[in-house]
Amino acid sequence: MIKTRIAPSPTGNLHLGTVRTALYNQLLAKSLAGKFCFRLEDTDRTRSNEDFTKEIIEGFKWLNIDWDGDMVRQSERGSHYQEYVDQLIANSKAYKCYANAEELEEMRKAQRAKKLPEGYDNRGRKLSTEQIKQYESDERKFVIRLNLGIDRNIEWNDVVRGPMSINTKDIGGDPIIQKFDGQVLYNFAVVVDDHAMEMTHVFRGEDHLTNTAKQIAIYQALDFQQPIFGHLPLIFTKDKQKLSKRKHGDIAGVDKYRKEGYLPEALVNYLIATSYSAIDDTEIYSLDESAKTFDPHRISKSPAIYDIAKLNWFNREYISKFSHDELMAHLKPYLKYDLSVFTETQQTDLIDAIRGNLNKFDEINNNVSYFFDDEEIEEKQIKFVDEGKPVLNKLLDVLSADGFDFSNASQIKEEINKIGEELGLKAKQLFWPIRLALSSRSHGPDLGFVISLLGKDKSLARLSKHV
Ligand code: GLU
Repeated sequence: MIKTRIAPSPTGNLHLGTVRTALYNQLLAKSLAGKFCFRLEDTDRTRSNEDFTKEIIEGFKWLNIDWDGDMVRQSERGSHYQEYVDQLIANSKAYKCYANAEELEEMRKAQRAKKLPEGYDNRGRKLSTEQIKQYESDERKFVIRLNLGIDRNIEWNDVVRGPMSINTKDIGGDPIIQKFDGQVLYNFAVVVDDHAMEMTHVFRGEDHLTNTAKQIAIYQALDFQQPIFGHLPLIFTKDKQKLSKRKHGDIAGVDKYRKEGYLPEALVNYLIATSYSAIDDTEIYSLDESAKTFDPHRISKSPAIYDIAKLNWFNREYISKFSHDELMAHLKPYLKYDLSVFTETQQTDLIDAIRGNLNKFDEINNNVSYFFDDEEIEEKQIKFVDEGKPVLNKLLDVLSADGFDFSNASQIKEEINKIGEELGLKAKQLFWPIRLALSSRSHGPDLGFVISLLGKDKSLARLSKHV
């Protein structure tokens, strides 16, 4: 049976790239009736943190990304690693390296001086029995390193990138598998865990390519069956920088999108689509729908580009499918204004009129605030209001008439059109100044409707300000 996993480290917020990796792993598992697991790689005690763990789990829950079985915590598997370390030492596939920090620094200095690539020079392989005895009696600390043997190509057929080959001489020398304090290192723990959890496929970001070469060497040394690897392109910004929290702030993490009112389905759809095109070219699909035809060979190996406009498009597509009541239920937690001052029909018409503009739910406030608050017109727009004074004057006259019916939006619109005809104005010359004067905006719902919602007092006050 196919088994895949996501293995986040709780050393930061839930990154969009981690979600995307999870999605492709889950798609693969779902498409082949396999299992998708979750392993928390929390062995780095100094950098791991429970708040990040919570945020990662909550983020996945919000996105409806579910896993099979219980979450595995790497930190709770400590005792499982030692037997494999011991086995490698017993088979001479790993050795103790006693080099201390100063010696290693000297080694690197010499490499720099000779303009050689920096890396461990495998000196621990060649220690004589006397040297080892001496170090032991000196109680020198040691790490355990995997003996990579003679230089050779480590090769694998990558599902995304095709045939891959990395020479052992290019991976920085014999890798450490266990530190001075007995803690095993990432590459070793991952291999032991992926083996124990019977992973058949490991899809992860292409920043792990060198790690994969090291891990394959560990699989070989332990005589474990190695999984099928796939390396996903990373997400870049349009200016070709790797999307990161450090450089780009909140946009790299999931939390921002949850807070601002993106739909989890839309974010999931967007993230899948960043590096994947469905067989039938459909763009809007759920995880389950995508799984029906998912083919991992269709994952692109070119960099994925973070594109907020595209994400907004996806979100608008999902929003457009909601009924009025569904949309209202989503908007409610974000709404800072009380729409119940309007009639039910007005509320429905208002939401219908603006839903096409909503990229995300928190934009609702900006779309309705002018019905409640008086706002300033942008400096650069003021000249259009000034030029439109004759229009505003005439409209003010019409609306001030005794008994004018503010509830009839289409009647109001007709009156506006009449003013346009009288003054011989084009649509823009007619509508723009009115809209700016009344809403401080250049776009919005039908003007007759806007005026009917604003009502007599607000409409007259705002027009008067500009005549
Ligand atoms: N903990 C690693 C990371 O977050 C996992 C890499 C892997 O999938 O093996 O990058």
